[in-house]
This record gives sequence, structure tokens and C-alpha cells, in this order.
Amino acid sequence: MDIAQLSDRILNADRRALARAITLVESARADHRAQADELLSSLTTSGRQALRIGMSGTPGVGKSTFIETFGMMLVGKGLRVAVLAVDPSSARSGGSILGDKTRMERLSREPAAFIRPSPSQTHLGGVARRTRDAVALCEAAGYDVVLIETVGVGQSETVVSELSDLFMLLLAPAGGDELQGVKRGIMEIADMILVNKADGDLKSTATRTCADYAGALRLLRKRPQDPEGFPKALTVSAVEATGLDTAWAEIQALAEWRRQSGHWDRNRAAQAQYWFAEEVRQALSARLDTPWAKSRMTELSAEVAEGAQTPQAAARDLLTGLGVANR
Ligand code: GDP
Repeated sequence: MDIAQLSDRILNADRRALARAITLVESARADHRAQADELLSSLTTSGRQALRIGMSGTPGVGKSTFIETFGMMLVGKGLRVAVLAVDPSSARSGGSILGDKTRMERLSREPAAFIRPSPSQTHLGGVARRTRDAVALCEAAGYDVVLIETVGVGQSETVVSELSDLFMLLLAPAGGDELQGVKRGIMEIADMILVNKADGDLKSTATRTCADYAGALRLLRKRPQDPEGFPKALTVSAVEATGLDTAWAEIQALAEWRRQSGHWDRNRAAQAQYWFAEEVRQALSARLDTPWAKSRMTELSAEVAEGAQTPQAAARDLLTGLGVANR
């Protein structure tokens, strides 16, 4: 594959070249990895930056419907939109529920939109790295907005928030005053809560749910990256396309404030550091995944159980064998 040519085509916003490049970065083959690294290095000089929006919500809350309507609205404003997914369930099923072809039918036909399902990988870490590379490729291809979607099941939100400039949580209207079991940690990374389905019979419940969340957000510790009034809770209806303009205006206001105040650049720098540390951690844990390491681990583990070695000594023994520690 001619990497220089592929790189030129991506810089010229060629969607097929972009799709091909993402396939390349998703490949586990060593020669593909080398080509992917060469491609990504050649594209870092593009200097293009998209607004990266992370989005999470439990299945059925309306993520696909929202992305379809919201994406169409952005396209209508003359923006180019890419949609990527981080799907933690792919680790289990080997396939991707977020890759369902029937999702986002209108948006997927738009020339200004690009939709890519989650890569199938055995580890969330592997998916994260490939999604990070895909985000970089979409930026180089000149997309204005990159939406990174994930199903709300805990760990994947952290991964997506480390890939995003801002993070939105999509929620459904809920009866009573219970806060839908949303974990505090997820509330703390949200920049905006959108209560979806604020239409028809659900409208008043949605308004009440939104007020509950607005109250809960006010109780959280003030974060330096927030201007007055953020994080915010808003109601939207993905089906009726209401509230989306307001949500977009708030997103832009927040992004602009962060750009002006320097938080945008600081956040991206901190994310680069996070991914550096993560790469190191993953490379080290991959060393434990070899047949030799596994069988040595089993042997040493038995010795530890018998009291023949202390846990520390056994660990050092294994690490020395792997060449990551000295005697
Ligand atoms: P996802 O699993 O989070 O991607 O959710 P979907 O987008 O597939 O939506 C799940 C269900 O909720 C579908 O039946 C949608 O038609 C419905 N839905 C999505 N958005 C809205 C909305 O704004 N209002 C109403 N009333 N229903 C919605």
C-alpha cells in the first residue's frame, strides 16, 4: 500500500481512503501496524482539529436516534460529521451491536457524514487505541465534529472521555426522584446531561428528570474546566428534533470558553499523557500474555501457595524472566 498516496487522499477528504486507513489502524498484523504508524505520523502535521464529542447512554435511551437527528442538523449547518463507536460488548460477542447497518440510515447516506462501527477486539484497551487512531484520521480528513459513542456500562465512559473534548450523557425520563442509578463517577465526567424523549406523554416527566439532574450537578464539586452554569442538564427529543439547537449552542459556548481559557489545550495535553501511560501499561501486560509467561506464572503461583516463595520474590522472579526487572 502506498502510504503517501493514502495520506494525500485522506487530506483531500476522500471517504473511501479514510475507511481504508481505519481498517489499517484496526489491523493487528505487525506490517499493518508499521504502515499505520507511518500514516499517522505523516498526518499529524495537518494541524486540523475537530470538536470531539463523547456520548454515552444505556441501550434504548435513544443514542442512534439522537446521533441521526443531531448529525443531520449539523450537516444542515454545513458541517462535516464523523461518528465512531466504542463498544465494550464487542469483547463478549465478537461482533458489534453498534455496527448494526440499519442505524442512522439518513445520516449514513449523507456525503458530509462518515459512520464507522466499533472494531471487534478482545480488550477494551485495544478498541480504545484503534478508536483513538480513527479519531486522528477523521481530524486529518477535515471533519468538523467527531461524535464518539459508547454504551453506558462503566469503564468505557472513562475511555471515551479520555478521547473527547467534551462528554455528554444521554438519559431517559424517569419516574419519581431516583436518579436512574447513574454512578457518581459518570456524573463527574459529564459536561452536559441530555434528557431525551421530551415529547408526547413523556414530556413532563422529562422536564422533572432534567430538573433533578440539574440539582444533582450543582451539588458536585466545581471543576476548573467549567464556566459558570456548567455542567448543564437539558431536555431534548431526538424523534421530534427539539432542543437540539439549544444543545448545540451550549456545546459551542462551552468549547469556545475552554479554547479561550486554555483548558482545551491543557485537556488534550493531559489526554496525550494518559494515552502514553496507557500504551506502556498495555505493552507490559501483553508481555504476560505469552505461553511462557502464563506457565511460569502458574508454577510460581503454586510455590507461593506452598509458602516456598514470598509473593514479592515470586513476582521479581517472573519479572526478571520477562526482562522487565533486574535481580
Ligand atoms: P439506543 O439503543 O440508545 O441507540 O436507542 P435507539 O436510538 O435505538 O432508540 C431506542 C428506542 O427509543 C427506539 O424505539 C426509538 O424510536 C425511541 N426513541 C429514541 N429517541 C426518542 C425520542 O426522542 N422520543 C421518543 N418518544 N422515543 C425515542
